[in-house]
Amino acid sequence: MSIYDRFNVRTIINAKGPSTRLSGGFLDAEVAAAMTEAGTFCVEMAELHAGASKVIAEVTGAEAGLVTSGAAAGLLLGTAACITGLDPGKMGRLPDTSGMKNEVVMVRSQRNFYDHAVRTCGVRIVEVGLPDRYAGAGVRDAEAWEIQDAITDRTAAVFYVATGSAQPPLPAVVKMAHQAGVPVLVDAAGQLPPASNLRRFIEEGADLAAFSGGKAIGGPQGSGILAGKRDLVMSALLQHLDLDIFWEQWAPPKSLIDKHRLRGAPQHGIGRPCKVGKETIIGLLVALQRFAAESDQDRSRRLLGLVNRLQSALAGVDHARIQVTGGSVPKLELHITKEAPRNALDLCIELERGTPSIHADPSQAHAGVVRFSPWCLRDEDPDKIAARVKPLLRY
Ligand SMILES: *Cc1c(COP(=O)(O)O)cnc(C)c1O
Repeated sequence: MSIYDRFNVRTIINAKGPSTRLSGGFLDAEVAAAMTEAGTFCVEMAELHAGASKVIAEVTGAEAGLVTSGAAAGLLLGTAACITGLDPGKMGRLPDTSGMKNEVVMVRSQRNFYDHAVRTCGVRIVEVGLPDRYAGAGVRDAEAWEIQDAITDRTAAVFYVATGSAQPPLPAVVKMAHQAGVPVLVDAAGQLPPASNLRRFIEEGADLAAFSGGKAIGGPQGSGILAGKRDLVMSALLQHLDLDIFWEQWAPPKSLIDKHRLRGAPQHGIGRPCKVGKETIIGLLVALQRFAAESDQDRSRRLLGLVNRLQSALAGVDHARIQVTGGSVPKLELHITKEAPRNALDLCIELERGTPSIHADPSQAHAGVVRFSPWCLRDEDPDKIAARVKPLLRY
């Protein structure tokens, strides 16, 4: 029995990993307890944000940081900050960017569904480079000089999506952008672990980097971080805070907000709908400290323990070969044979539809592979997964 039963919602076994569609991961008891306690007090939100900024700065090496309602919210807030700076008039006019810098330069091969968060601010994405793969012979992608070429006096930011294979390398992009005085915003949502990536993009010169709190960090599902330059974080926070307050009355924390540099108090900004509650901020901070305190080795050993349990439980499975992949997040793969009673995608679908409902990763199903990630598995899940997989692969 769980609280979900009270609302007639079934729980699932999440062997896909912390994806938003499957409600992220689950909270460690310490994080959950911190959120509950946070909810039993009131604070001034700006002061809470200032405290959070210090923690994020320590963990990321950035000047400042903001807890957001997710990495995508961080992209929206970060873009808004790059457009308006500390001008409260411009903040109030977004997403109308008439008369403002309203272009964001981005490598074409990095375009993805999440760049909608950038476009929400009223900017046009200027695509750069041609990922020459389709013809078979091509090997090139965007090059740094092409980014330089695309930057004009209308460019608000260069937007970069960090992945292992992203081209050009971030330092080269930063060099071009900074030569033109343009900030670089990095989508680092899915780049953890390794924990060193919390610092890496800032070290490589990113002005802002957005991370998901609800993925590897293990924070509340609807949380994230935006870390970077203090002025940009200040602007992002100003476009996010609730500012129903008289100017004379308003005494924001000096560590994060320079009131004297503002012509007036901003109105509720474009980021106001990306509200984060105090419980979320505290939960994220506790999770972030826990994540940073665990070494990558210990984390991967802990996850490998779950993978090994699943491997033993699946021993003797028919019509499939078991393979354990290494790396910072080890996974178990079932390579389904041609003689199996159902193919990889059908196995995933059957697992989802039955009871308990099990969500595996079908992204390699076209190659006959079903993947199981240990990220969001509870201790009892490996046995439950094996108990459902085995009969489905037997005649
Ligand atoms: C998950 C993800 C996001 C969105 O993160 P949320 O925290 O869910 O808002 C953005 N970009 C990339 C590359 C992601 O993987």
